[in-house]
Amino acid sequence: MQDDIVIGLEIHVQLSTKTKIFCNCSTDYIDQEPNTNTCPVCLGLPGGLPVLNKKAVELAIRTAIALNCRINSTSIFHRKNYFYPDLPKAFQISQYDLPLAEEGFMELIVGKSKKNSKIRITRAHMEEDAGKLVHIEEKGQIVDSLVDYNRSCVPLLEIVTEPDIRSSEEAIVFLQNLRSIVQYLGVCDGNLECGSMRCDANISIRDSKSHQLGTKTEVKNMNSFRAIKRALDYEICRQRKLIEDGEKVSQETRRWDEANNQTVTMRSKEEAHDYRYFPEPDLLPLKIKDSWVNEIKDSLPELPVDRKERFTRDFGLSDYDASRLVEIKSLGDYFEEAARDYKDYKKLTNWILSELLRYLGEEGTEISSSPISAESLAELLHLIDRKVISGKIAKTIFEKMFKTGQSATDLVQKSGLTQISDKEEIDIIIEKVIEDNIQSVQDYRSGKEKAVNFLVGQVMRHTKGRAQPDLVLNLLKEKMNKLEN
Ligand code: ADP
Ligand code: MG
Ligand code: ZN
Repeated sequence: MQDDIVIGLEIHVQLSTKTKIFCNCSTDYIDQEPNTNTCPVCLGLPGGLPVLNKKAVELAIRTAIALNCRINSTSIFHRKNYFYPDLPKAFQISQYDLPLAEEGFMELIVGKSKKNSKIRITRAHMEEDAGKLVHIEEKGQIVDSLVDYNRSCVPLLEIVTEPDIRSSEEAIVFLQNLRSIVQYLGVCDGNLECGSMRCDANISIRDSKSHQLGTKTEVKNMNSFRAIKRALDYEICRQRKLIEDGEKVSQETRRWDEANNQTVTMRSKEEAHDYRYFPEPDLLPLKIKDSWVNEIKDSLPELPVDRKERFTRDFGLSDYDASRLVEIKSLGDYFEEAARDYKDYKKLTNWILSELLRYLGEEGTEISSSPISAESLAELLHLIDRKVISGKIAKTIFEKMFKTGQSATDLVQKSGLTQISDKEEIDIIIEKVIEDNIQSVQDYRSGKEKAVNFLVGQVMRHTKGRAQPDLVLNLLKEKMNKLEN
């Protein structure tokens, strides 16, 4: 059977406010003593009353506008009731049938085929995060479970897509774009590993000819793009196999098991919660004036799509190069800074996307703390263009710059690695190489053109790579052709 993959995503984005969504406690929960950033409201003590954080609403609206959503002039907070030790009130304040924002979309360009697709956003609603359970393990056994409420009441925006995504690759591109958008907006750091952005994926397979959706499973617990991709691919395979074997996919929530590279059942449909939603009586309906929405709209920064367009237009970069540069805001900033000093934009891009990213990746360093500044990289590239150093030596210098933080000019002077473009100096070396390699010279003269490559190599070895290969080649040929028989 010809089948379609159907994917819909639910993404939690942690809004980067200083204080929590319904109280004045700090939102800093990483590296803090457990339960220090708490108060009666976020501990769910009797009598604690929630007060909505205006900044959280503003950040949520910023995001919703960037996702082309309609902002509802009235939205309602609901109680979502369930019991779990990390949820002290035994309900989560969330939004239900009247969310903050609805009916948006994101446009994507996917893969080598550059397929354009439009993923509809169903809704974006605000809610509070829960606390965190910390399990103490001994010899692989959980011996104790502790709870830390520092994260309780941290503001989240949940973004839900329509089931419009057609491949795991498309899902990843969607998420990478979303991460760029929230980073550019400054509403979230978009860190999947630390959980400030979390994604649950809903997947089903259907007969291409059918208009009905197949039964879906929901997969949770992936904390990197790589894990999401693998979990989706695993689930697609698993469901296809069930269908091929004439079995049914059962509707359930599954967990990605990173260690064993598979998804495993968490709970089936029968065990699904009945959340008994009802309006939160301690919060008024949230009214948002058009004038505020317009004000926020006017204050939005340049978004990744617009920046990408500007990069292709103003710097003549390919779509691919431009998208890679703008995906991470600070990388785009770095490029723009270097581009002020250095105008061969394609060459600059290549050095950033290959050398710089490779070294940063190996060291696990962020671009914002790169030991080689944008200005410094531009200086190195100028040295190559002025033929002070060869491209090959520039890579060695680059490595030294990365390790020591010194400038290219300083390192080149200290190391004596400047390129030899003095013809006389090279002449002397060539004479010696010819003398030492009579056989190769004869080979060349009897018509074996390739023998010259070996001789060039010898000259390069004697100069430690500091001669210009083109110059060496020409001089060598000239000399050998002049030799007497
Ligand atoms: P639930 O009530 O199970 O949470 P929703 O209708 O709220 O389901 O949808 C949750 C997410 O699952 C949305 O992102 C939606 O696009 C996606 N989804 C719904 N049905 C399917 C399906 N058959 N296959 C894949 N994704 C689906
Ligand atoms: Mg749902
Ligand atoms: Zn609090």
